[in-house]
Amino acid sequence: EGLTIHTSSKDYPVYVGTGVIEELGSFLKEKFPSLTNLLIITDENVGERYLSILVSVLSDFKPLSYTVPNGEFAKTFEIYQQCLTFALEKKLDRKSMILAFGGGAVGDLSGFVAATYMRGIPFIQIPTTILAHDSAVGGKVAINHPLGKNMIGAFYQPEAVFYDLDFLHSLPIHERRSGFAEVVKEALISDLNFYQWLEEHISNLEQLTEEQFSYMLEKGIAIKGSFVSKDEKESGVRAFLNLGHTLGHAIEGEAGYGKITHGEAVMIGMVFALELSCELLGLTFNLSKFKNWVKKLGYEIAIPTHLDHQRLIYRMKQDKKSVGGHVQFVLLNQIGEPVLKEIDDQYLLESLKMYRG
Ligand code: NAD
Ligand code: ZN
Repeated sequence: EGLTIHTSSKDYPVYVGTGVIEELGSFLKEKFPSLTNLLIITDENVGERYLSILVSVLSDFKPLSYTVPNGEFAKTFEIYQQCLTFALEKKLDRKSMILAFGGGAVGDLSGFVAATYMRGIPFIQIPTTILAHDSAVGGKVAINHPLGKNMIGAFYQPEAVFYDLDFLHSLPIHERRSGFAEVVKEALISDLNFYQWLEEHISNLEQLTEEQFSYMLEKGIAIKGSFVSKDEKESGVRAFLNLGHTLGHAIEGEAGYGKITHGEAVMIGMVFALELSCELLGLTFNLSKFKNWVKKLGYEIAIPTHLDHQRLIYRMKQDKKSVGGHVQFVLLNQIGEPVLKEIDDQYLLESLKMYRG
């Protein structure tokens, strides 16, 4: 059972389900027989709730643990250095391993620590948010620079991903929405059936069943994984994972990081991109049904009124993905058929003005 992610540097398994961390010990014994030390990096929210569980399933290994601040506060030079200092003091060596236990922030930080400590030691992702299904796969690891998010990082793949659904129950609603928006994105860029399944079955993010969780996470991971491995052959398709992100990132940045979750901003960006797709590419899609569905799930889909449209456009141009001063959008010819399209400023400004969500 389980999924495999294929990349040029390595193939690695992803296990999704209730209780999968019970298998982590035997995985380590089998794949890493000469393991010297295990360091769990987690944040306060996750550590307080679940660290003792993880430590106890790994008791044979006497794991070390290091707790970092929650969320984005973990992805700083200072915390990065503290992790390295801890690892050095505890004498981790090249046969030691890091376990990233938390959401995407802990995953990005821990992965970057693993990538750079002694020029790279193995690490495993143990995601605890819905969003982390996206960040745990694909090998992008990073910390932030005061001048920009995720500016300092590496491509570094984990040895495995152990996604235990038991850790997800405590996830706050805004974080659920944040992660679920990425699942919707994955469906829209690649799989009409999956999209229809989501729309039909997911009507309350606070009451997801185990089956719903595991189906959507596995499916989302498989889609992310396929775009990542396809990108190694056909460069550029990874960009399609940015559906909703051009405007989404600008909204996140303008609102101030932390004011709106990543996925909630991306959802606004997606609705906007879908509207442009209908207008410019003749996408046939029941957009009003889509809007009603996501509003029922609690998403706000209008652009917050205090955000200035010119400034949003300025931000979109600053994006590391925009080229030559033009704003690139991922749009859809059809569901499952994404394309990149350059949108000129004047048109974009008009569209933002007209957009009501
Ligand atoms: P996060 O790690 O900041 O977690 C969100 C919040 O939820 C935090 O406060 C955290 O402490 C808390 N939390 C985590 N798990 C919990 C649980 N089970 N119960 C209760 N609270 C819990 O954020 P995220 O949304 O998982 O990830 C966002 C980060 O991921 C960003 O830094 C982003 O840049 C990064 N990211 C990376 C990639 C990539 O490809 N590497 C892709 C997308 C996002
Ligand atoms: Zn995203």
